[in-house]
Amino acid sequence: MLEGGCHCGSVRYSVAGEVEHHGLCHCSDCRRCAGATPVPWIAFKSEGLTVTKGEPTVYHSSEGVERHFCPTCGTGLFYFNEAALPGLVDIQSVTLDRAGDFAPEGHIMMIEALPWEAGVDSLPSSTVFPAWIDAHSAAASRSSASFACRAHISA
Ligand SMILES: [Zn+2]
Ligand SMILES: [Zn+2]
Repeated sequence: MLEGGCHCGSVRYSVAGEVEHHGLCHCSDCRRCAGATPVPWIAFKSEGLTVTKGEPTVYHSSEGVERHFCPTCGTGLFYFNEAALPGLVDIQSVTLDRAGDFAPEGHIMMIEALPWEAGVDSLPSSTVFPAWIDAHSAAASRSSASFACRAHISA
């Protein structure tokens, strides 16, 4: 039994059963709905999913497709598409509490990827916010290590 939830904690879920597939989706619908790309999706039999706290909001991004997200913090959680994935729920896998235990199997829907996506692995990489971001922020006088996406880390 695995557990997961949204960022704010309003929606929590558990899921049981075997992993059916786990892919990084580069399609335009996932990108627009998540505001990010790629979107990691891990699939289980939908009967294994239980929402244990709260109630996700459902958005129909296209006919027959349900995308469930937290109404408070906006975290994307579940995807149902009975025509394409009968009997399955796709879960945004990084919402699992143990997300690090589940590595994706591959990239999917690269046909709709943005032109620059194939080259992201060769970009410069920094363990924290690097100088080229600090230089353009109000925190320019701080060290890179004190600056992060979570405001309370930078205090
Ligand atoms: Zn939330
Ligand atoms: Zn997609």
